[in-house]
Amino acid sequence: MERDYPLEKVRNIGIIAHIDAGKTTTTERVLFYTGVSHKIGEVHEGDTVTDWMEQERERGITITSAAVTCFWTPTYEVPTDKTKKHRFNIIDTPGHIDFTAEVKRSLRVLDGAVVVFDGVAGVEPQSETNWRYADEAKVPRVCFINKLDRTGASFEHSYKTILERLTKKAVRLQIPIGLEDKHEGVIDLLTMKAYYFEGEMGNKVVEKDLSVEAGISKELKQEAEGYHHELIEKIVETDEQVMTEYLGGMTPSLEVLKKLLRQAVIVNKLFPVLAGSALKNKGVQLVLDAVVDYLPSPLDIPPIQGIDPETEENAVRHASDTEPFSALAFKVATDPFVGQLIFFRVYSGALAAGSYVYNPRTRNKERIGRILRMHANDREEVKKVFAGEIAAAVGLKDTITSDTICDEEHPIELDRIVFPEPVISLRIEPKTKADQEKMGLALNRLAQEDPTFKVSTDQETGETIIAGMGELHLEIIVDRMKREFSVEANVGKPQVSYRETITANAEAEGKYIKQTGGRGNYGHVKIKVKPMQLLTKEELENLPKNTKRNEHFEFINSIKGGVIPLEYIAPCEKGFREGLDRGVLAGFKLVNVSVDLWDGSYHEVDSNEMAFKIAASMAVQDACRSAKPVILEPMMKVEVVTPEKFMGDITGNLSSKRGLIEGMEDRGINKAIRAIVPLSEMFGYMTGLRSMTEGRASFTMEFFRYDIVPQNVAETIIVSRK
Ligand code: GDP
Repeated sequence: MERDYPLEKVRNIGIIAHIDAGKTTTTERVLFYTGVSHKIGEVHEGDTVTDWMEQERERGITITSAAVTCFWTPTYEVPTDKTKKHRFNIIDTPGHIDFTAEVKRSLRVLDGAVVVFDGVAGVEPQSETNWRYADEAKVPRVCFINKLDRTGASFEHSYKTILERLTKKAVRLQIPIGLEDKHEGVIDLLTMKAYYFEGEMGNKVVEKDLSVEAGISKELKQEAEGYHHELIEKIVETDEQVMTEYLGGMTPSLEVLKKLLRQAVIVNKLFPVLAGSALKNKGVQLVLDAVVDYLPSPLDIPPIQGIDPETEENAVRHASDTEPFSALAFKVATDPFVGQLIFFRVYSGALAAGSYVYNPRTRNKERIGRILRMHANDREEVKKVFAGEIAAAVGLKDTITSDTICDEEHPIELDRIVFPEPVISLRIEPKTKADQEKMGLALNRLAQEDPTFKVSTDQETGETIIAGMGELHLEIIVDRMKREFSVEANVGKPQVSYRETITANAEAEGKYIKQTGGRGNYGHVKIKVKPMQLLTKEELENLPKNTKRNEHFEFINSIKGGVIPLEYIAPCEKGFREGLDRGVLAGFKLVNVSVDLWDGSYHEVDSNEMAFKIAASMAVQDACRSAKPVILEPMMKVEVVTPEKFMGDITGNLSSKRGLIEGMEDRGINKAIRAIVPLSEMFGYMTGLRSMTEGRASFTMEFFRYDIVPQNVAETIIVSRK
């Protein structure tokens, strides 16, 4: 079976926005227009557009699905020309800050994004966070300044906030025709045409010349001409030869300009900015055209990296149907009709329903039952999926978010999605004894869906502990447990997840030697510990052969000449990990420690794995105790938006919370205060802020990094853990 869509006509995109900027409305319009265009000829005259929307809402799967597939033929093509049709997979990205993990995971599998802004507020705190994540993932983006029909809307203001706070590489591709209740359409600065959106849902895109008859004033036309030249200059600057020709007086054709702009967008050199109003049906179709014209297909992005799980050598897969199959599971979701679904992105090769896939994490094979593609209004069962596509699998029991599934004969483990670790935890117990088992099942299911949510058991008390990214995150989990699994629970006070680390180098020796008649135990190691160095990406890729690194722990095996036989090295590594997990100051996990195993000895008869594990664990604890250990605490980036008159109170209060004020600026008629504050001081801040400001200020907060706790605070923490 062959693929039904050429790869260059596939777009895997996300729609990213600050809460309330209009992501849902924009997505609804996208699904509506693509649905209509897909069904052209099939729609009965009587079916009004609004009917279609109603049905859509009732089915309710559109916006909640992790990925939906739809089709788009650019407005400048003949609508019936099948060869111009593109397939879009729209990957959901949630809005709330406690769920940035979700944004990260979707950024990993999408190739490009549409970033939606509120045309009144412009860039908001969360747009900044998400933009930064997208920068890290090098995701090409087009910007859509939405809500230009709202009172107070200003394209120019919003554009300026993008330039000032996100990127200097943004460039106007459109400007609006009129604002607020006079917002009627947009001018495209490349084609220099005006576009209007007629019909009940604005589904008829009408192109006009920039003339007074077409509703474009002389001033607006002049403005457009200025921006037209600015846009051309920015585009030609990206190509030396065209630049030289341009300086010599030759303006490139529209086709060349579009091609250059596409190339520049794909490598993050330019970010085109578009305009409109999703609610008033203005501009959305041109955003879809821009997705086709400027955002990459799977062929335009670099091949995916991974490692060969057998040899641990680097490996890559190209977006080609003839390479071995590899895919990344990026979301586990429960569907009311088909049960558990695993959404995955195919990076290479093809996969047929009913076949087996290999998971290098579990080292097991699993059978894929059915493969589904989610559409706005139905689920399509597909027999086979190909490179670059996104689909959902039914029947994978042991696959979790971030797992690779691949061809068993050609295994690869794709780079895992790195999720932030939980910063807050609480104790939880079921209200009734009968709920005990149900609670365990529910929590495990929720943890499977959400990689930033963790469940564990307190070794000493046997209590269940849940951990996540913020108070709200855990509240929602507890609420879902009640609604979806009918388990009621009592929860304890939220606790900060502290950590420990070392600040100096040290050495230690660990001996576990026991003679208990008959066979004894003999394990003996000598180690050096030091704080782990930050490495560049290149250094990480070229680590020496004897060095293994993960996020928090580095293990160097410097054993020469078999003074410790090879079979005991892995048990040593395990012992180091266990020793580090127990901490040395207050029982918090020790992180960022580099352990060099450089010497030791063994006994022909008495040595065994357990003895080496224990010796290693004792040695690492000893070494860390003398390596100036400290406690680390999560620091949060906090932004408070408030009327000016409360500024003094708020900053004073933040400083008393050991907060560091980073800056202040105007935010419309309000002021925004940015600060870095320890998480431990932020519990209940909502209530405090309300009473300080008569409920007129609001705040957002996200994890920033771990910092060393001041000595006096550390002492209190240590005492409280005794
Ligand atoms: P999300 O939180 O980003 O998904 O935002 P929504 O799409 O839910 O929109 C938030 C609110 O803004 C809703 O009340 C929408 O009706 C409204 N909204 C969305 N787009 C527009 C627009 O273009 N113009 C106006 N005036 N309101 C809009």
